[in-house]
Order: sequence, then C-alpha cells, then structure tokens
Amino acid sequence: MQFVTILGASGSIGSSTLDVLARHPDRYRVYALTAFSQWRKLADACLTHRPRYAVVVEPAEAEALQAWLKAKGSETEVLSGTQALSEVAAAPAVDTVMAAIVGAAGLVPTLAAVEAGKKVLLANKEALVMAGALFTRAVEQHRATLLPIDSEHNAIFQCLPAHPQDCLSEGLATCGVRKILLTASGGPFREYSRQQLEAVTPEQACAHPNWSMGQKISVDSATLMNKGLELIEACWLFRARPEQIEVVVHPQSVIHSMVEYVDGSVLAQLGNPDMRTPIEHALAWPERIASGVSGLDMISTARLDFEAPDLDRFPALRLAVEAAGQGGTAPALLNAANEVAVAAFLRRQIGFTDIPKVIESVLERVPVTEPEDLLVVQTADQEARRLAQSLIEAR
Ligand code: NAD
Ligand code: MG
Repeated sequence: MQFVTILGASGSIGSSTLDVLARHPDRYRVYALTAFSQWRKLADACLTHRPRYAVVVEPAEAEALQAWLKAKGSETEVLSGTQALSEVAAAPAVDTVMAAIVGAAGLVPTLAAVEAGKKVLLANKEALVMAGALFTRAVEQHRATLLPIDSEHNAIFQCLPAHPQDCLSEGLATCGVRKILLTASGGPFREYSRQQLEAVTPEQACAHPNWSMGQKISVDSATLMNKGLELIEACWLFRARPEQIEVVVHPQSVIHSMVEYVDGSVLAQLGNPDMRTPIEHALAWPERIASGVSGLDMISTARLDFEAPDLDRFPALRLAVEAAGQGGTAPALLNAANEVAVAAFLRRQIGFTDIPKVIESVLERVPVTEPEDLLVVQTADQEARRLAQSLIEAR
C-alpha cells in the first residue's frame, strides 16, 4: 500500500489524481489533501478518501472545514498555514507526493517532498522553472524520484530508452537522442491576428479547445507562455539545452510530444487529451494500471497537423526561450512577472497582449544573478513581482 499526499488537491490536476486513486483502493491510500482556500472544494474528497490530514492554508477556511468534517463523523484532522503543506509533503508515512499547486507557491512544499526523498509527481512546472538547478540538485542529493506529469514531459519520458533514469544521468546524447519535439496545441487563439489578440477576454482565454485546466495555465496556453515554461522544464528534466528542443504546433493534441534519435527514428506518445493518463503513468511507473481514459479512435482522429509557432504573434514563447538561454535567475524573473501579469489580465486590469510586454520590461530591468540558494531565487521572484505590479499600476 502506498500513501499519497496531493498538494493542490482542489484543483484540476488534484481532482484527476483523486479519480485515478479511487480506481485502485488496493494500491493507494490518501495521506493528505491540500488547498489554499475554498474549503468546500476539499470537503467531499475528505469524506470519500478519508485522508489522515487535510490542509487549508487560510486559517478561517481550515476551521470551517474541520467543523463540517466533525459534524459528519470524519476523523480527518485539518491543519492550516503554509508550513503544514511542507509537513504533509515530507511526513515519514508518505511514499508519493503529487505536486499540483499552481505557481511559485508550490516551490517550498515540493522541495520539502524532494528533500524527504519521496517519489514526486511534478505537475507544478513553475517550481522547476524558478529553481531548476537547486531542485534537480536536491533530487540527486536526497535520492528522490522525480516523474513528470505535464503531458508533454510525460510523453517524452515514455519515449526515452528503457531505463530513462540512467539515460538522463548520462545525458541525452549518450542514449542516442538527437532532439526533443515539444508539441503545443497553439491554444484558443492560434489563428487570431495581432489585432484580434488585443481584444480577447479572460473568458475566451480560459476556454481551451482540447484541455480543461485551471485558469492560470489556461491563460499561459493562450499566450504560449505555457510552452515556454515547458521548454525550460524540459531542459531541467531531461538535461537538455534549449537548442535541443523544438516546439511544434499540433492543434489536435493527440501526439503529446516526440523524441528524435540519431538514426532518424522519431518516437511519439499518443492518446486522448486527458491528464489521467500521465497521472496514472507516473503513479504506477514502471508498471501500468487503468486510468479511466478510453482508447484513441484513430479513424475519428483522422488527421494530425503540424506547424511552426509564430513568435511575433506570441512573443511570450520567445521571451521564455531567451530566458532559458540566459539561465541564472532569468527564468525565475520570467515566471514571477508572468504570474503577476496573468493575474492582472484575469482581473481585467491589462489586456491580453500586455502580458508579454510586462514580462519583457521586467526582464530588461531586473539584473540576472546566479541562483546559489533558495533565498536568491525568492528575492529575484519578489523583485520581479514588485516591478511587474508597479508597471501594471502605472499603465
Ligand atoms: P488549479 O488552479 O486548478 O489548482 C491549483 C491548486 O493549487 C488548487 O488546489 C489551489 O487551492 C492550490 N493553490 C493555489 N495557490 C496556492 C497557494 N498560494 N498555496 C497553496 N496552494 C495553492 O490548477 P491546475 O490546472 O490543477 O494546475 C496545477 C499545476 O499543474 C500548475 O502548475 C499547472 O501548470 C500544472 N499542470 C496542469 C495541467 C492541467 O491539465 N490542469 C496540465 C499540466 C500541468
Ligand atoms: Mg503541458
């Protein structure tokens, strides 16, 4: 029996994870479920999965959940505060941690799971973007197992040779890999003109054609920043240089990514766009178990199209590629400015095309340093947030 903590259990990835776990009560038991606020989103899952702990970061919301659970006769203990996130991620009884908090807030608890040597299923790409060097060093030092949940990275992992971990520790070239083809749906505005992009609303940006996801990643998919964050994520996960990764727009989201070998072979992983597949894959790896996802109907899929990304209409991807090349704290600055700009767009404070403008201004003004420790990364993150906020307010 494996004990699982889900960081970000009330979100989109969190609920898909609970769905997969519920299919295998003989293999998995939930140790803890966490959320930031909105306790009602955790309430039913606590009754169904009976975790030992539930964490709701906001104290008043945690109290409300505890009272509600007591009245239902539940024995789940509710904790509050950010420290509790790290505690339930690192607790000795836990085997596996699903890291599915959105944004920089996930870094510290995910790192706590890594430092406790857990099997860490990484959905929270922002943690790796911000602190890739520290994070991957900690994985090695504490012998944690890091498995990718992002569908593209999970696909790449599946297309690597039989012992991917050995291959990664030696470097991609040693196992015959020439490059990684990172697929992108192109988002809801793939065919929009520059002028049309100026006028898009948060509702339009959050309506992804193929995937149903949280708001922040939906906006990131629409700007193509998501692909930029994923390129940086792939560099760390697969020890690749940015120029070894090619972004390919593939509107059907049936191929989740590909790996090209030196002999010219290209391996792809295909499937219906449903996050339960990568979640199942990482949970059970190296075994495979049912995920609830139906098989791919090739006849009705019919077509697989590909095109190059347009970096002029979608400059966020260009900024991310540049930050990847620059290294140091550049990706942390990019990520922080993006989080602030996306939140401002969702509040209708700035337009869709202002998002990359804010990020570019931040990257031009904040000096890049070497991310020697967590404090350096967090200071860069805070500085980028302050500047992004003041640029937004000055508009
Ligand atoms: P979501 O918005 O649906 O859920 C986010 C979760 O994080 C919620 O449980 C929320 O309570 C928690 N959270 C938010 N802020 C927090 C804070 N400050 N402290 C503690 N907890 C906090 O997001 P999602 O779509 O499930 O995405 C989660 C992560 O997975 C993101 O990093 C995203 O990029 C990545 N991801 C998501 C998908 C997808 O299909 N949804 C696919 C690939 C990767
Ligand atoms: Mg993805």
